[in-house]
Formats: sequence, C-alpha cells, structure tokens
Amino acid sequence: MIVGPDDVKELRSLGLPAFFVSALQAPDQRTYSQGSGDYRSEYLRFEQIIQKYEEWRQASPTWVTRQQAGASWEGRPVWVYRLREPTTPIPPKSVVLQAGIHAREWISPAVVMHLFNHLRELAQTSILHRWLINEVEVCVFPVQNPDGYEYTWTSNRFWRKNRRNNGSSYGVDLNRNYSKGWGGAGSSGNPSSSTYRGPAPFSEPETQAVRDFVATLPNFVGFIDYHSYGQYILWPWGYTTNPPPDRVEFDRIGRAMEQAVEDPFGMDYRQGQTSTTLYIASGVSNDWAYDVYGALAFAIELRDRGTYGFELPPEQIRPTQDENFLAFEVFLLEVAR
Ligand SMILES: [Zn+2]
Repeated sequence: MIVGPDDVKELRSLGLPAFFVSALQAPDQRTYSQGSGDYRSEYLRFEQIIQKYEEWRQASPTWVTRQQAGASWEGRPVWVYRLREPTTPIPPKSVVLQAGIHAREWISPAVVMHLFNHLRELAQTSILHRWLINEVEVCVFPVQNPDGYEYTWTSNRFWRKNRRNNGSSYGVDLNRNYSKGWGGAGSSGNPSSSTYRGPAPFSEPETQAVRDFVATLPNFVGFIDYHSYGQYILWPWGYTTNPPPDRVEFDRIGRAMEQAVEDPFGMDYRQGQTSTTLYIASGVSNDWAYDVYGALAFAIELRDRGTYGFELPPEQIRPTQDENFLAFEVFLLEVAR
C-alpha cells in the first residue's frame, strides 16, 4: 500500500510498519502523453478524454448521446455518454460503467474508452453487437472523479480521493461514499485518511451524480466499476463476508468473465466476492447497485499485480483494453438474454 503524507500519521498509529518510498511528484508528462491523443497507446488528460467521446458522438449522432449528470467540487462536469440503438421500440435494459472513481488508476478511464468505442464500431458491421446495443443501452461515466484525476497529472500522481476541502485536509474516497454498508469496516472516519468515507452517504457531488442518473433509468440491470490494480473480478458484498443472495449466479458469471479476460494473453485474474477475495470495503459502488437495484454489479481491478501498480506502462494499455473487452462482452450477453 502506498499512502500520501496525509496518511502517515494514521498508518503509524495502527502500529503498521512504514517506510519512505519517494517524494511526491507530478508525473513526467513526456512519459505519459505524446500529444497524439491516441487512447490506445497513451494516457490522456480529462479534457482529451471527453474530446474523444465527443468525436465518437459526432461520428454516430443517432447512437451516442451525452448528458451532464452533475458537477465536481471544483466545477468540472461529470458527463455520462450513452450508446444505444435508437430504433428499438421499447426502452432497453441499461448498464452503467464507471471509470476513474479513484484518481490515480489511470488505466480505468483508458479501458472504458475502448469498451465504449469498440462496441460502437463493431455495432456498425456485426449483427451480434448490433443486437447487443438493441437489447442493452451502455451508459458510461468516462471520468467520475475529474478533480482528482487532473490532480494526479498536476500535483500528486498517487492521489486517490476527490478534492473536497475537509478543512485541514482534502478529499473523500468516493468508493466508500455509497450507501450500502456505509461507515463500516474498510473505510475511515478520519478526513485525512485515503479511505475517508465522507460525512454521510452520498455526501459528494460525484457520487450523487451516479445515484441520480441511475434513478432515471427505466430498467437498470448491470454495473461495472473499473479500478486498478490487482487483476480481480469482484462481486458483492464488500462490506460483509456474508455471501449475497445471488452468489451462485455471480460465481457462474464471474468465472465466465475470468475465462474471457485471461484468454488472449494468459493474464491471471481472480474472480470472487470482494470481502473474501480482496478485502472488506464498506460503502462501495457495486454493493449499492446490487442492493438497491438487484443489478449484476461488479468491480474489476485491472492490470497489473504490482510490478508497476498504478503506473502501468503505456505499452500495456492496449492489451488491457483488448482482454477486458472480451469480459465485457460476456457481461453484456448475460444481461441481454
Ligand atoms: Zn480503485
């Protein structure tokens, strides 16, 4: 675990051993962005990411729409992009993909960009994918935590939370701010902690945006929140080690997604219940989506296993995107049928 200077005191108070790794630094932008805007080979700034989605919207104006679901603490828009077949006579099922809830996990927005755009492209030529977007609308939050994401580019590469001003510190861990199990183990009430849950469930505009948008969907059936790193496919619950009512179904679909994601490059992902596979975490997004809506709700930890951690080299963007598109197809097929 890497913590920032705000968390050293709490870490030591727990009696955990800690040592100094490196001084905080803004990333060397020459390493990360060549300015080509190619989301398959480099990480992009927030505005560049939205620009790509805008290009896709302009290229497919009947399929792709967008709306502003909210605004961050610093006033950046929290966008949602929606991909669907517009001639479908009945309101389709909807799935929601969340990217970039944790600021430093740069591979997450990059992967979700590919899922959205590749599905859009394939639907033009493949009957299967055309059918999929007919049955299932895909709604994407390209960067749910834009303030934190930009902060990782300008100030602190390892920032995780949003940028709420807590008085003597900054930030709420948005993935401890959802309602299910809020306040429990695996979250902190200390504002300077990197897992600070916030003053109340849904206290943050960035989580309110997701909650309020999902409430407008007529038939919300699936949810994936993309994180890094560790290579896990995780399902509820995170807040307790008790299994969810649909554990057999989650296990079956989790295994199918695991098989798909491992297929092209042999990368080892592990699927299972969050609390027993990774760790207990309370107030997480997919627990909420499953609890309130009964949605097929996953959290996926992308590459790698810790060699590079949050600083996944740009050469690994493309294979991570490709392998995760296959797991996404399995997920879509499950919710479509
Ligand atoms: Zn995360």
